[in-house]
Formats: sequence, structure tokens, C-alpha cells
Amino acid sequence: MSVETRPVGPEGSVTKGLSRRSFMTWSAAVGGGTALVAGGGYFLGMPSGSAAAQGDGIPDAKTVWSACVVNCGSRCPLRLQVVDGQIARVLPDNTGDDSLLGRQIRACVRGRNMRERVYGPGRIKTPLKRREGTKRGDGVWDEISWDEASELFAKEMLRCAETYGNESLFSVYGSGVWNAHISSSALAGRLFNLVGGSLSYYSNYSYSQIGTITRFHYGIPDECTSNSFENSIQHGRMLVLWGNNPQETRMSGGGNTFTSVQAAKTAGLRIVVVDPRYSDSAAVLADQWISPRPGTDAALIAGIIKHLVDNDLQDQKFLDDFCVGFDEHTMPEGVPANLSYRSYIDGKGPDGVVKSPEWAEEITGVPAHTIRQFAVDLAMTKPVNITQGWGPQRHANGENQARAIYLLSNVLGQVGIPGGGTGGREGYFWPLTSWFPAGENPVQASISNFGWSDAIDHGSEMTATKDGVRGVDRLPSDIKFMVEFGGNMLASQHADNGALRELLRDESKCEFICVIDNQFTGSAELADLVLPDTTTAERWDLVPSEYTGDMAYLIMAEPAIEPLHNSRPGYDIFAGIAEKAGVGKEYTEGRTLEQWARHMYENEHRPAVPSLPDFETFRQLGVHRYYADMDNPEAGTHVSLRSFREDPVSNPLGTPSGKIEIFSLELYDMSQTWEFPDGKKGDRITSIPEYVATWEGAEEARQPGAQYPIQLIGHHHKSRTHSTYGNLAKSKEAHHQVLWLNPLDARARGIADGDIVGIFNDRGRVQIEVRVTPRIMPGVASLPQGAWIQWDENGVDHGGSNNVLTSLHPTPVAKGNCQHTTLVQVELVSAGTKA
Ligand code: SF4
Repeated sequence: MSVETRPVGPEGSVTKGLSRRSFMTWSAAVGGGTALVAGGGYFLGMPSGSAAAQGDGIPDAKTVWSACVVNCGSRCPLRLQVVDGQIARVLPDNTGDDSLLGRQIRACVRGRNMRERVYGPGRIKTPLKRREGTKRGDGVWDEISWDEASELFAKEMLRCAETYGNESLFSVYGSGVWNAHISSSALAGRLFNLVGGSLSYYSNYSYSQIGTITRFHYGIPDECTSNSFENSIQHGRMLVLWGNNPQETRMSGGGNTFTSVQAAKTAGLRIVVVDPRYSDSAAVLADQWISPRPGTDAALIAGIIKHLVDNDLQDQKFLDDFCVGFDEHTMPEGVPANLSYRSYIDGKGPDGVVKSPEWAEEITGVPAHTIRQFAVDLAMTKPVNITQGWGPQRHANGENQARAIYLLSNVLGQVGIPGGGTGGREGYFWPLTSWFPAGENPVQASISNFGWSDAIDHGSEMTATKDGVRGVDRLPSDIKFMVEFGGNMLASQHADNGALRELLRDESKCEFICVIDNQFTGSAELADLVLPDTTTAERWDLVPSEYTGDMAYLIMAEPAIEPLHNSRPGYDIFAGIAEKAGVGKEYTEGRTLEQWARHMYENEHRPAVPSLPDFETFRQLGVHRYYADMDNPEAGTHVSLRSFREDPVSNPLGTPSGKIEIFSLELYDMSQTWEFPDGKKGDRITSIPEYVATWEGAEEARQPGAQYPIQLIGHHHKSRTHSTYGNLAKSKEAHHQVLWLNPLDARARGIADGDIVGIFNDRGRVQIEVRVTPRIMPGVASLPQGAWIQWDENGVDHGGSNNVLTSLHPTPVAKGNCQHTTLVQVELVSAGTKA
């Protein structure tokens, strides 16, 4: 792709490129903004032609550009106003305008609460070492100097590498530092790589299953995005948000899911939300809400497709020309008969079951007549962009859930056309600027993002075909040295927190744990060494956009105040350790953090995005927007797989056939060779995206006399991004952590709104306030993910961490996390105080 770039001028030049339809749409969306305020807790900004830090807020205060960089899928500029060396006020972006592609990037309630994050009591103030003779988690610490701390880290790292090999070193997932260009997990990676490398991981907790399975379906080694919402606004007639909830997961003005979905609604698109929970997106956007039981999406889709083909409503030409394996006549050679998807839904496959809408109703709970009507609506309201969020795939056998949603777009022939889409998440323009260089990792071995606790417990038993180990057939070592930089995986973000805590407290397993953060998390409590990082407000950085539709941008972040307490920017922390490990010069290349920011900006970012101004000018402007086609931003709206659709011979996909593989021969082979010695129900690899009933799934919940009859899911919460911001009092007060429970389930248990309930299964117990609401379907409860854990002396969590209840069992192909596959029981603990 060739990219031309130029800045958005004060005249709002991108607005000129918009069609009357999209411009009017956006204007109308602004006019209708009251719904947004109610639904998203978010305020659209006033348009401003000036691109400058100064101009409003506290008179005469020094105003400095900074950013919120947490892993919410957006990134927001913040203007920090400094008075007497203290941040006195946090202002949002004042650049851009109210046009669709030049929009302001307004921070949500989380970023606007940055002062509490900087000055709150949760800050780690100085390096801490677990006191000799105490166990991890006992909470007894000695303050040590930075020199001692750096020495200890370096000594333990080198000892473990020498004793067990570099595969024993691991930097565990920490999404709190994924999203700035410099203060990212690459800081740890660069250190490890300079001392011989470390065990790495593939995939991530957000979309492990879809990110892994897509290569078998579309031949892409990540998820395959759909068309952008901007493109739907221009060309579409219908938008399906399948497990996709932009109103709560993409709350920034930069996130296309906020602004564009609003615009899409006023553009007149029919919007259907498929979700077990009546999310804010359903409440604010949807013409129709369809609520299948969690984990049954593939069954719902089979019922829809059966109705489509029975009424000849599928795009047969697309299936014949662009796909493999929907029909018997497009199956690869050498495969037994009746393994195509059509055979599956017609009852000619191995299970002999016709996948009628009635069959789907029994599994999903969606009435058969609704399934039929939805199928007809989809076929008659093209182009339709089916966009899936990442909730449906975060299930046991979530790989098939994700593929099934892709498949529905295939059957409708919507791939590669304006207004249509692939069935993946809404498309976006990935930023062109680059991250801090981690260097090459000499270690080949990697595990799934979810596999690290297994690798601590029995890493040297983990293999490629049993555990999804990559790069080697078997891991040579357990994990013995682990650093958690900017994350809370050890305490609340992984799974089965109680069992995990016991594993981490066993010092014969992982021998050294260091946590680096600016807040004293539950993970820090389980460390041997805790090092205080600064917040973004105290350091230099460059911050890119992420999932922001067709508008990419870069944000300037510079220190507004000096590092508080005895904290240091992450770069300085790792540089100090590198010095002790004998690789200091190689680590820094002689640059300070500010010099790295200037170096990367001039030598990498400006060549990649020629419209970027010089560094000093950028410090004043703060934000720079750019587009795939700067001369005509609207023309650049994202149509996924357009070239494949236009010429599949010249532009084949990366699958073995070059086509969309509804039947995957690779998966067929894996189904014969991969091992599941500890397998549970549903641990199956299937060649087509069929429905697989799994452990702790919808069927098990409805068994007569089921011990755990409630399906527990965990939606994203407005007060925090995963666990970031989860300890701030104002955030918690604004958005209370409660369990969502349907009135039918509440009444059957004598539970009223506001009561304290116990949520439990064999893995643990949580006690928290309940919200009794019809916004969650019967038989399902939702406990928002990311809450900070608060153990009591009996091992009961009072913080509301849903991962006390989730399982460490991975999915079959991706070996990923499946936090929405969890069965629990709910009981009354005590009456609440509500009238
Ligand atoms: S949490 Fe996300 S949307 Fe909110 S301010 Fe931070 S980056 Fe922006």
C-alpha cells in the first residue's frame, strides 16, 4: 500500500472529502448526542480549529500534552495543566472537529481520572524486596535502593538463565504497557534478548481463539478484520454487532466504534446486536436484540444458514468461486464424503442431525421464528457488515464460534465488497509508527498467552501437539524467572485465581518474580521484588492510535511533572538492570529516554508518516491525524479483502487453496494428530465451524439438578480497562462493581436488587452486590471482568474478580483463555440496603 499523508488543517479539510450522506449523518449524530451521554457516560467535545495545548482550563497554568495509554483499544490525548509543579486539572483533546474522519479524540471517564492515578495512595513509592524468611503474599517488605534492586534482578535473571537455560526466563503478559511506543513490553524483551533471549508467547487474552483460527479460514495469521464502520456508513444497509459492544469497550472519541456506530445509526442502517446481555450498544444502537445462550453462536449460525439454503438465499456463486468446502463439490480431494458444511446442516454428516432452526432454538434459546426472520433480513438487506467482537471466541471451543461468524458473511457473499464485510471485527487503519526496538530473540520456543501458569507448573512436559508449544517439539525448561511489567495477571487477570495464587506462592516452582508497575496491584503482593514505574504523566513517550477506524493518529506525551516518590520511567529501570547485567551500553545505545523519543520520531515515525511536523512543532500540536489516502480520506475507508474479491487468482489468500476454507484440510489433519490426554467435553478440533457442546456449556447448565446452573460471563466495565484504574475510588464510585442477574433467577433464589450474593463453583467463591435486571438473559449472569481481588481470611473474594471462578483449561487449537465458559451457582448472603 502506498501511503500519502498530510495534516488535518484548521479548516477541517477532511470534512470536504465527505459525501453529503456521511457529513449529514455525522452532523445528525452530534445533534442526537443525548443518547450517548445516557448510554456511554461520554460527552462529545466542542469542535475546535486550534491544535494546541493551551486555550482553556485554568488560566496561566502550564499545559502539557500527555496521554492515556491503557489497553482499551483506543488511546486518548490528555492535556495536563500544571500549577506549582502539580497536575491541577486534566483536559481532553481540543483538536479536530466534529466531522467523521477528523473527530476529536475525547478521553473517557477513566483517562479523565488521571490525577487520582498519579497522586492516589496506590502508588508504589520505592523498590521493595520481600523480607527473607517470609512467603510470597505474606506482605512483609524491606525498602531497598535502586542499586540493590537492579543488582538483585540482574543476578537472579543470569542465574536462572545459566542454571535452566534462557527458556526459563519469561515476561508475562502485561497489557497496561502495550500501547505506548517506548514504555511498552519491548523494554523487557530488549533486556532479555541481550542476555540470550527468553521464552515468548503468541496470541493474547483479548482474541486468542480468533487470532489463531483465522489462518485456517482466511489464511491470515491474526484476526481478519471486517469493513470499517465508516465504510458501512457510506455503502451499507445493515450492521450486525455480534458479541460486539463498542459503547462499553471503545469509549474514546478516537475509537471508531463510538463515533462511527452513532453515525451508522443515523445513516439509517438496520442494526442488530447479538449478545446474551442487553449491553449499552444494544440499548443505544440496536433495532433488534437477539440473545443466544453464551457459547452457542455456532449453533445459531447453523440454524440461520440452514434456513438460507433451504430457501436458496445463499450466495451460491460466491461459495463456489471463492470458498472451499461449503458443498461436497468444492471439497478438497482425498477427504471422505459428507464432511462438507452443507452435509453437516442437512444431517448427512457424521452426527446425522439436521440443523433446523428448531434444533438451534433448543440449544441457543433463540426462537426458531426469530432465527428464520433474522436469516431473511440478512439476505434481503445487503450489503450487510457482520462484525464480531471478541466475546464469542473467548469460550471453550471459541475457535469454532469465531469461524462460524466468518462463515455467515461468506454464505451471504459479503466479503470484499463495499458495505459488506468478512465477519471479523470492524476494520481500522493500523498506525504506521513503530515501537521501541526489542531486538531479535535467540530463543525459538513460544507458548500461548494463556500457557504460562502451566509452564511454571510443568513446562518441561509441554509439547507442540498437546499444549500448542511452537518453535520446538517440547519445552526444555519450566519458567523459573518471571517479570510482570504493567499488568495484573498474577492476581486477577488470568484464571482460577485461588489455584494460581498457591502455584505462585510455591517458590520451588517459579524461583523469582519481579513486578514493575506504578500501582501496588494484587500481582505485586505475589512478587519477590517490586519496582516503582512512573505514570505516563511523568515521562516521555509517543502514543499511537489503535482500533480507531479509518483515522489513525499519533499523540505526543511528555513529562508534566517530575517522577513522584522514588519512581523511575520503565526505560530507566531496565537500563539500570542492563548495566548490572553487563549489557548497559547495548541497551541504551547511549540515549536517554528523551533522546530515544526524539530519535524514534525523527528516524522512524517521520519517514513512515511524512506529514508529521518536526519534533518541537509536534510538542505544541500534540496530536496528528493521518489516513490511508490523505488526499481523499473517504476513499480510504476500509474494505477488507477487496483485492481478493476483485481478482482471486492474482490475489489469493494465504490458505493452502488460496480460497476461503470453510473446510480446512489442515484442521482435518490436526484433528487426527493433536492429543488431548486431559481433555474435557468439547476439546475437539473440527474441519468445519460446527457447533461443539463443551464442558461448562449451555447444555450442562440446563441438566436437571445441575450443581452449577448459571452461565457466568464477564463484560468489560466502564470504570476500568481490564484491571487498570480498578483501584481508584472515584472510578469505583462512578461505576459500581455488581453481578448482573435476571429477575427470574433472582426470584427463584429469594434475591432482591442490592442484596449481597455469593457466586461460587468448585474453584472459588465471590461475594458482591447484585443488580437484578432483565438486561441479562435468564440462566446467565455477568460479573464485569478486571476487578481487583480482595481475599478474606477464608479465601472468599469481596472485590468481585470473576477470575476466581474461571478455569485454567485452554481451548483446543489456540490453547487460549475461555473466561466466558464458566458455570456457577448464586445464593443470597445478606439483604441489601436498597428500599
Ligand atoms: S481508557 Fe481508553 S477511551 Fe478512556 S481515556 Fe483511556 S485511552 Fe481513552
